[in-house]
Amino acid sequence: MKGTHSMGKKSGSKNMIACRRCGKRTLTLRGRTCSSCGFGSSKTLRSYNWQKTRKKSILFKS
Ligand SMILES: [Zn+2]
Repeated sequence: MKGTHSMGKKSGSKNMIACRRCGKRTLTLRGRTCSSCGFGSSKTLRSYNWQKTRKKSILFKS
């Protein structure tokens, strides 16, 4: 296989554990913050404007 195939470096060391809030395995052991929902760093759910939902994308089109 040429280069680093997809998810190639994801196996092995355990850096991420399951998040208590969103359930995804995106909670880091080191920083104790979730990269998906922002658990640990913010009380509210992590969200950005560039995370366009289907409803918002329709609004922005007009
Ligand atoms: Zn989370």
